[in-house]
Amino acid sequence: ALDGARTREWAERFAASVYATEAELTALDQQAGDGDFGANLAAGVGAAALLLDRAADSAGPAEYLGAMATAFLDEVGGTSGPLFGLLFQALSRAAGAGSGLTADALATGAAQGLAAIRRVGDAAPGDKTLVDALAPAAAALRTAQDAPPATALAAAADGAWLGVRETASQAARMGRASYLGERATGVPDPGAVGVALFFASAAGTVR
Ligand code: ADP
Ligand code: MG
Ligand code: MG
Repeated sequence: ALDGARTREWAERFAASVYATEAELTALDQQAGDGDFGANLAAGVGAAALLLDRAADSAGPAEYLGAMATAFLDEVGGTSGPLFGLLFQALSRAAGAGSGLTADALATGAAQGLAAIRRVGDAAPGDKTLVDALAPAAAALRTAQDAPPATALAAAADGAWLGVRETASQAARMGRASYLGERATGVPDPGAVGVALFFASAAGTVR
């Protein structure tokens, strides 16, 4: 299972991958939205870093994921901030009081995060949103619930990237990208890329 230190490493690798991809995410949101997604996601991981630093040395997975949730829910503007916050909050709750995050808890957290995001945002699969990356990631985690977390998270990342690829062929029906209609077809959804970066960042931190 994933302990607190590894969860923190995951969060830090996610932050690094967001900074490395920020310009690309901005460009995607310029083509399919209003261009602020890279800045919104970078603001979220920046705010999260401050809270991660303040966590106790003994913090477990739930505390670190909870810090990310608080940062994204409270500090990030745009549609995506609260939606990523809901995912991290559900993962934190699923981690519970235990000191190790299992593949089973990851699957539960991702499913509950997906449900919360769909309740709030009202997007269905196929609407060209981050739901199209999170839904296959959550499904992959459930399939791999008895596997080691490293295996489960690698499968989640693969599923999310497949979902990203599918968003490129979809016309947006939700959010700002929907104002562009067919003009956004061919461009992957930036929020979906953000979700894939999150699961892909776990690779290498989990053993
Ligand atoms: P904004 O549209 O407020 O500028 P961001 O740029 O922060 O929001 O985030 C854009 C991303 O948010 C999109 O790429 C998409 O993945 C996601 N998104 C937008 N609307 C929804 C929704 N209703 N449900 C789920 N995800 C959504
Ligand atoms: Mg935007
Ligand atoms: Mg905006």
